[in-house]
Amino acid sequence: MGLSSAFYLNQAGWQVTVLDKDDFLNNCSYGNAGYVCPSHFIPMATPGIVKQGLKWMLNAQSPFYVQPRLNRALIDWGLKFMRSATPEKVEAAAVPLRDIAVISQHEYEQWTKIPAFDFSYEHKGLLEIFQTAKVAAHSVHTVEKGKELGLDVDLLSREELQLLEPGLKMNAQGAVFFRCDAHLYPNKLMKGLIALLQQRGVQLVPNEEVVNFEKQEGRISKVITRNQAYDADYVVVATGSWSREVALMLQTKLPLVPGRGYSITLENSPYKINHPAILVEGRTAVTPMDGNKIRFGGTMEITSTNTPPRMNRVQGILNAVKRFFPEFDIPMPDPKNIWYGYRPCSADGLPYIGRTKKWKNVVVATGHSMLGLSLGAGTGKIVSEIVNEQPVSMNIAPFEVERFG
Ligand SMILES: Cc1cc2nc3c(=O)[nH]c(=O)nc-3n(C[C@H](O)[C@H](O)[C@H](O)COP(=O)(O)OP(=O)(O)OC[C@H]3O[C@@H](n4cnc5c(N)ncnc54)[C@H](O)[C@@H]3O)c2cc1C
Repeated sequence: MGLSSAFYLNQAGWQVTVLDKDDFLNNCSYGNAGYVCPSHFIPMATPGIVKQGLKWMLNAQSPFYVQPRLNRALIDWGLKFMRSATPEKVEAAAVPLRDIAVISQHEYEQWTKIPAFDFSYEHKGLLEIFQTAKVAAHSVHTVEKGKELGLDVDLLSREELQLLEPGLKMNAQGAVFFRCDAHLYPNKLMKGLIALLQQRGVQLVPNEEVVNFEKQEGRISKVITRNQAYDADYVVVATGSWSREVALMLQTKLPLVPGRGYSITLENSPYKINHPAILVEGRTAVTPMDGNKIRFGGTMEITSTNTPPRMNRVQGILNAVKRFFPEFDIPMPDPKNIWYGYRPCSADGLPYIGRTKKWKNVVVATGHSMLGLSLGAGTGKIVSEIVNEQPVSMNIAPFEVERFG
C-alpha cells in the first residue's frame, strides 16, 4: 500500500518519502499467492467462517485459528467481526470489493507497459477446485452471483476441469473458473516497484520506525521516528498489520489484527499446474509463478506478530495439496525456506481507505486482509486521488476508516 501510494503521489508531482521500520523486504507483500482477483467479492467475515473457525480451533493443522488471548483489542475485533458476518453485510460488500479489484487490475495492466518493470503478470484466470457435494452446491450460487456482478465465471465439471489441466492427476468434483482473474509474482513486483520509485526520485528510508506524530491545529506537521523527525505536508498511514498501533498515535481507532499465513515456493518445480488454483476444502492456494516456480500458501492464524511460527500449519497446507493432487509429494521444507507474513485484517474484511476525522492531512490505506496484493495498485491510485482532492474512481464510503466508531 505504501509503495503503490508513493507511485501515484510521485506521478502527481509530490515529493514522497517512504519510511519503513524494516528494510522494505520483510512484510506481507512478498510471499503471498499473487492473485489479482475480482473473484474475491466475498469478504473474510462470513457467517460460515465463524462456525467453522470454532470447530477448527482444536486442530493444530487447521487452516483457520484464533490464538485465545485475554487481549482487549482482539476481543473488540472478534465481536465486531462476528457482527459483520451476516448475509446482509456480505451482500453489501460485493460491489465495492469488485469495483476496487477491477480498478486495481486495470492499473496493474498499465504498470506492465512501463519499460523494465516486469513482474510476471499473467491473465489466465483462477480455479476454485472443490471435492464435496456441499461446496459444489454452494459454487452454483457463487457463479450466479459472479455473473450478476458482470464477472467472467463458469462452473466446470470434473471433465471440463481436466481439459484445462490435462497432465494433472486430481481428486476433484469440479471447479469454479474465474476467467476474470490474473496473477503475478509478488517478489518481482516489490523489487521492481522499489527500483522504479528510486529511479523516479522517491526517497525510501529503511529502519525508520514511526513512533509518534507532531500535531498542530488539526494537522500533522512532523512524522517522528526513533531517529529523527520528518516535516510533512501530508501523511499516508500504510503500516499493514501494525496500523492499529500507528492509528492510536493519531487518536484514531482501527479495529485490526494480524492474520498470519505461510507459503512455500519451489523454484524449479517438478510439479506443474497451468492455472492458479484454490483448493477450497483445504483452504490452500497454489500458484504457478514466473516460469518454473510454484507457490503453496494458506492458513489464517489470528495471533500477535511476536508469536513464533507454528510449523504444524505448514504441514496442514502440504497435506491439503496431497489430498487434491495425489502426485504432489512435497516434503516439509527446512524452516528457513518457509515464508510467513501478517495480513492486516479489518473487522469486516473490507479495507480502511480514506481520511481520518481528526486530521486534515492524513489518509489511511490498510486493512486489506486477504486482498492486499490484489487491491494494491487500485488503493494507491485512490489514495492519490484523495490527497489531490480529485474525483475518486469509485464510491469509497464502504471503506470509511472510522466506520466502527
Ligand atoms: C499466505 C498469504 C497469501 C496471500 N495471498 C494473497 C493473494 O493472493 N492476493 C492478495 O491480494 N493478497 C494476498 N495476501 C494478503 C496480502 O499479502 C496482504 O493483504 C498485503 O501484503 C498487505 O499489504 P500492506 O502494504 O498493507 O502491508 P505490508 O506489506 O505488511 O506492509 C506494511 C509495512 O509497514 C511497515 N511498518 C509497520 N509499522 C511501521 C512503523 N511504525 N513505522 C514504519 N514502518 C512500519 C512494515 O515494516 C511493512 O513494511 C496473502 C497473504 C498471505 C499471508
